Amino acid sequence: MKPAPFEYHRPDSTAEAAQMLAEFGEDAKVLAGGQSLVPMLALRLAFFDHLVDISRLDELKGIERRNGALWIGAGTTDAAVGASSEVESAVPLLTRVTPYIGHFQIRNKGTLGGSVAHADPAGEYPTVALTLDAQMEAVSPNGTRRIPASEFFQGLWETALEPDEVLTGVSFPVWSGRCGFAVEEFARRHGDFAIAGATIAVELDGDDRLSRCGIGLLGLGSTPVRAAQAEQGVIGRPVSEITPEEVGKLAMSGLDEIPADLQGSAAYRSRVGAAMVARAWTSATTEAINA
Ligand SMILES: Cc1cc2nc3c(=O)[nH]c(=O)nc-3n(C[C@H](O)[C@H](O)[C@H](O)COP(=O)(O)OP(=O)(O)OC[C@H]3O[C@@H](n4cnc5c(N)ncnc54)[C@H](O)[C@@H]3O)c2cc1C
Repeated sequence: MKPAPFEYHRPDSTAEAAQMLAEFGEDAKVLAGGQSLVPMLALRLAFFDHLVDISRLDELKGIERRNGALWIGAGTTDAAVGASSEVESAVPLLTRVTPYIGHFQIRNKGTLGGSVAHADPAGEYPTVALTLDAQMEAVSPNGTRRIPASEFFQGLWETALEPDEVLTGVSFPVWSGRCGFAVEEFARRHGDFAIAGATIAVELDGDDRLSRCGIGLLGLGSTPVRAAQAEQGVIGRPVSEITPEEVGKLAMSGLDEIPADLQGSAAYRSRVGAAMVARAWTSATTEAINA
C-alpha cells in the first residue's frame, strides 16, 4: 500500500516548524526519523495533508548537561544516544535500553524525540523517561513549556503535546551516589517490541536501605507505567530483606489494564512482567551494592 497524498514541508527552524503546525492544525504532523510515522502512513492507519520534516534541524540535535540534568535534543538519533559516552556516564539506563530498540537500521534513523512523541506503551525511551522523572520540552508559537513525564503519556500513542507543539528535547535527571540501573524485557524475536519488560533505577544509602527507586514497566498498559506500589513497598527498607519475587509481584499488583492480544493474554503478560521486574531488580540492586 502507498500513503495517501500529502504535502511535504521542510522548515529551516523549529520556530518555523511550530508556525506551520499552528497554521495547518490537525491536518499536519511532524516527521522526524519516519520509523513509526511512515509505516503508519503506508498502511493507511494515519492520514495527514501536511508533513513537516524536522529531521535536518541541527538545533534539535545534541547531548549536553543543562542545570544538572542531561538534555538530549529531540532530533538526536537512537544510534547517537547509544554511542554517547556522556549518556553512558550520566544516564546509563538510556545506553542500556538502546540496543533493544528495533534493529540498527531503525536506530540510525529513529530519534529519541520521535520515540517519546510516538509514545508506544512498549517503547524503551518513553519508559526510561517515566522511570527517571524526565522533563519534556516543547515549543509552539506561544513559547516554550516543560511537561513532566508523569503527565506526558496520556493513552495509546497519545501525549500531552498540542497539535502546534514541537518536542525540542528531553531532560533526564542525573542520579549519583550508590546507584544501580537495569533493563529486562521479553520479546519473541530480537528487535520486536517487548511483550513485557521493566526498567529499574535504585539508590542505596550508607546502611544499604533503598533511598530512591524508579520502576518503569513496558507493554503492561496503554502507556508506559510506573510500578508505584512496588516503589512505595521498598523505599526505606534494607535491600537484603527484599526478594526480587516480592518486587515482581508488587509491581504487577497495581496494574488494572494489562493488554491482551495475539502475543499473549493479560495473565501471561503479568507473569512475564513479574519475572522481568525480578530479574531487573537483582541486576540493579547488585550494581548499587557494589557501587
Ligand atoms: C520494525 C520496527 C521495530 C521497532 N522496534 C521498536 C522497539 O523495539 N522499541 C521502540 O521503542 N521502538 C521501536 N520501533 C519504533 C522506533 O523506535 C521509532 O523510530 C520511533 O518510535 C519513532 O521515532 P522517529 O524519529 O522515527 O519518529 P517518526 O516516525 O518520524 O514520528 C513518530 C511520531 O512522533 C511524532 N514526532 C516525532 N518527532 C517529534 C517532535 N520532535 N515533536 C513532536 N512530534 C514528533 C510524529 O509526528 C509521529 O507522530 C520500531 C520500529 C520499527 C519500524
